[in-house]
Amino acid sequence: MVKQIFISNFAPQFFGGVEKNNEMFNIPVKGLALGKHHYHFVVEDAFFEHYPDAEIHHGKIDLSLEIEKESRLMALQFHFDGSLQLVCDRCLEEYLQPVKNDFRLIVKYGEKEEEISEELITVPFETSRFNIAPYVYEYIRLMIPIKRVHPDDAFGNSTCNVEMLKKLEVYEKPVTDPRWNALKDLKIK
Ligand SMILES: [Zn+2]
Repeated sequence: MVKQIFISNFAPQFFGGVEKNNEMFNIPVKGLALGKHHYHFVVEDAFFEHYPDAEIHHGKIDLSLEIEKESRLMALQFHFDGSLQLVCDRCLEEYLQPVKNDFRLIVKYGEKEEEISEELITVPFETSRFNIAPYVYEYIRLMIPIKRVHPDDAFGNSTCNVEMLKKLEVYEKPVTDPRWNALKDLKIK
């Protein structure tokens, strides 16, 4: 059974802010039958608004989540596919960065909530809802490339804003060798 959950089309205020919006990411694990369950989420701007300090503000990413529930654990398989709006390191203009990746998380029942490793956490037996929002955010962050630049076109040419690059060249200050400054100081004396 596929559950469609769309976060994007609603302004957060209609949900009553952060908590309500995060509720969209609550998985009702207690009532979940053993076996496989599929969920579908669309992560858009409204999601990122809850992380105002972060570098991501715009994007649209489809998330399909498969949960396989067993008696003592749940295996969560996240599949992300979409794009993020990032600022190009070279021309400083925004561009769309395609992102796509899979992540796995094992949620084991235990005494308390604890992170054992990147892929394994424990939650208490009595947990009724499991909120995946922090994991979704962390996985999206992990998909941001270290080098952020406009992608090349089909001919291998840069798609950076040429006008912007020219302007940046003009305004870029020439690098002064610190040894020259030392010489200047000597002359004054
Ligand atoms: Zn660029």
